[in-house]
Amino acid sequence: LPLVGHGRIIGSLNLGSRRRDRFAQSMGADFLERLAAIASLSFENSINHERLKMLGLTDPLTGVNNRRFFEQRLREEVIRAERSKQSLSCLFFDVDRFKSVNDRFGHRSGDIVLREVASILTRQMRLSDVLVRYGGEEFASLLVDTSYEEAIDIAERIRQAVCVHRFAMPEGDALRVTISIGVATLCQFNYGVDSKAGERLIHDADMALLDAKQKGRNRVVAAKLMPAPIFSRNQA
Ligand code: GH3
Ligand code: MG
Ligand code: MG
Repeated sequence: LPLVGHGRIIGSLNLGSRRRDRFAQSMGADFLERLAAIASLSFENSINHERLKMLGLTDPLTGVNNRRFFEQRLREEVIRAERSKQSLSCLFFDVDRFKSVNDRFGHRSGDIVLREVASILTRQMRLSDVLVRYGGEEFASLLVDTSYEEAIDIAERIRQAVCVHRFAMPEGDALRVTISIGVATLCQFNYGVDSKAGERLIHDADMALLDAKQKGRNRVVAAKLMPAPIFSRNQA
């Protein structure tokens, strides 16, 4: 029996029996048809529910996930990193002097640049990594099972990928933009294992980003790897 939603086939309900005489030609099928109609409605409901959930976690401009999603995943990834004794790195990105892109080319062109930056960043990530638009022209990512040194290398590779990209503007101009990146890594000996470890991780990546801005932009700065204070280690 076809499962139909909004006039489109969204699946099928298949019934069979080992007994040859179980579904004879002469049998009425209205009961099964009603069952299929109910199943269709239930599937549609849950598809709509999932779609809404996804929309609530997606940034409409760039199509990448949003800050809400980041916060959910941060909690999960910190727990996973601590349990599996793997490093978890966090990158904070900010487009340099982005206001001047809007001022020179208009907000629509600014939007195009943001979309393209998001797509460059996405291409540089692994499937298991998390990339979100954190705010206006800021993005953040979580690199799972990635050490401090690896994260710095990845950040540097991303910085260069953006730096060499030519952004095509609607009027035919080609624009270059740069980004600054802050890096922080949660590994076995820093941050401790209390519930605030994730917050400290993003705070440090954010501060490193600020440092990158102050040092002149278009650069990667990593937060120092510091041993956790004794009290937070003991809180485990
Ligand atoms: P800095 O190098 O210090 O980061 O300078 P900046 O100009 O990038 O930073 P600032 O915070 O002064 O400006 C950010 C700009 O980003 C201002 C705001 O209008 C713009 N912006 C934020 N969200 C969007 C958006 O969705 N679309 C467009 N086109 N612009 C946006
Ligand atoms: Mg900013
Ligand atoms: Mg900026």
